[in-house]
Amino acid sequence: MIEFLPLGGAGEIGANCYYLNINEVGIILDCGMHPQLTGLNSLPKFELLEDKPTDYVLISHAHQDHLNALPFLIKKFPHIKIITTPQTRAVAELTLHNAISILKRQIDESEFEIYSRDEVDLLIKSINYKSCNEKFVLSSLNSDQEIEAEFFDAGHIIGSAGILLRINGQKIFFTGDINLFSQTILSGADLPEEKIDILITETTYGATDSSVINNWEKEVDRFSSAINKVINNGGSVLIPVFALGKLQEMLATIWLQMQRNKITNVDIYTGGIGNKINRIYDYNRYVVNRNEKELVISDIPQKSLNELKDFDELFKFPSIVLASSGMMVESTNSFMLAKRWFHKKDSAIFTVGYMDPSTPGSIISKAGRGDKIQLTERDRKVEIRCEIKNFRFSAHSKREEIISLVNKLNPEIIILVHGDKEAIDWVGASVIKQFPDKKVFAAVNYKSILFD
Ligand SMILES: [Zn+2]
Repeated sequence: MIEFLPLGGAGEIGANCYYLNINEVGIILDCGMHPQLTGLNSLPKFELLEDKPTDYVLISHAHQDHLNALPFLIKKFPHIKIITTPQTRAVAELTLHNAISILKRQIDESEFEIYSRDEVDLLIKSINYKSCNEKFVLSSLNSDQEIEAEFFDAGHIIGSAGILLRINGQKIFFTGDINLFSQTILSGADLPEEKIDILITETTYGATDSSVINNWEKEVDRFSSAINKVINNGGSVLIPVFALGKLQEMLATIWLQMQRNKITNVDIYTGGIGNKINRIYDYNRYVVNRNEKELVISDIPQKSLNELKDFDELFKFPSIVLASSGMMVESTNSFMLAKRWFHKKDSAIFTVGYMDPSTPGSIISKAGRGDKIQLTERDRKVEIRCEIKNFRFSAHSKREEIISLVNKLNPEIIILVHGDKEAIDWVGASVIKQFPDKKVFAAVNYKSILFD
C-alpha cells in the first residue's frame, strides 16, 4: 500500500513537501517554506505526520520552497534521516542559517522553539549525500520493505535532482523542479531510462502559453540588444535574480555576450550570498550536466553591491546590476534598488523569470513608463519613469515538455503538484486528452491519495 499526502505545495507554488508511506516506510520528498507566507504559516503541515512512520527526507534541490523548512521538520522528528545531492548539501550550508534567522524575527519563540546556530551546523553535518545516478537503499526497522532510491540530474539549478524510488518492481518518479533543455550553464535534465508507474510532476509553467517563451538563444539575443540600447543611452540596467540559479545563469550569459562583443563592456554589480553560491557552481563544473565547463563564474569581473556607499554610484556610469530577490520581495536589495530606478528615465528594469502574482516583482513587471504603481500597503504610489521590459529565461519545463515527460516515462498514474490551479488544469486536461487511459490526480494539500 502506498499513501501520498501533500503537506504543502499542492495546487500552489507553496511550501513543497510530499509524504509517502510505502508499506510502512515513511519518506518525505522536499521540505520547503512558503515564499509568500510568514512565521509558522510558511511551514508545511508537519502535524499530519504525528501518527505516521517517518524515516527519511529526500530533497530535490536547495530553493527555499523545497528546502528551508528542514530544520523545523528535524526539530519535530529528530530521528528522520536527510539525504540530498552533495551540491544541495553545500548550498544548504550557506542558506539554512538565513532561513532560521528570518523565521526567528517572525514568530514568538514561546510558541515554537527555534534552532540555535550550533544546532543548524549539526543538522547540516548530519545530511547524508548521494550523487546523481548512485543507487542507495531506504529501509525502516518497522518494515521489511526495502526501497532503492536514485537521484537524476534535473537541470534546474546546481545539485537539482529528480528522485526515483524502486519498490518491488514498482517505480515512483518525483521531478522536483525540472528543466529538460539547456540554459547558459546547466545543460538539461537526465531522465530514468525505464518505465515509471507513478509520476509526481511539477507544473509551474502549465498556465503559460509556450509560444510567448522564446528559445534560450533567441531570448539571449533580444536581451543583449535591449541592454545595449539602455547602456548606449547612458542608463543602467537592474535585473532582479534569485541568488541561487538565476544569478549564475544571467551573470554567465552577460559575460559570454560581452566576450562575443554582443553586449557593451560595462561594470557588472552583484552582491549577497550569490557570490558564495557561484563558488559551488565552479567547484562542481565537471560533475553536473553543464555547458561552458571552462567558465569559472567567480572569475567574472564583478563589483560588489555590499561595498557601495550610495546607490547613486550605480548611475554615474552605465552599469548592469544583478540583485536579489528575483521576485523583488519587500526590503530585499532588488526591491530597494527598483525604487531608485523608477525615477531614472534613461535606465531600465529587466525581469528575467517567473513572478508570483502576490509579489512586488509581479506589479513591476506588468507596469510601463508613465504608469503609477504602489508596491506594498506601506508604500506610496509612484510614477514609473524608467523602462520596464520582461524576458523569459526559464529554468522549468515548458508545459508541452511536461506532456512529453508523460509520453517518455509512460506512467499509469500522474500526480500534479507545484503549480497554480490554472497550470494544473491545463496539464491535467492535456494529459487526459492525449492519454485517455492514464489516471491523473490534481493533488490537494493535506488530502491523502492511496494506491495498491
Ligand atoms: Zn526551484
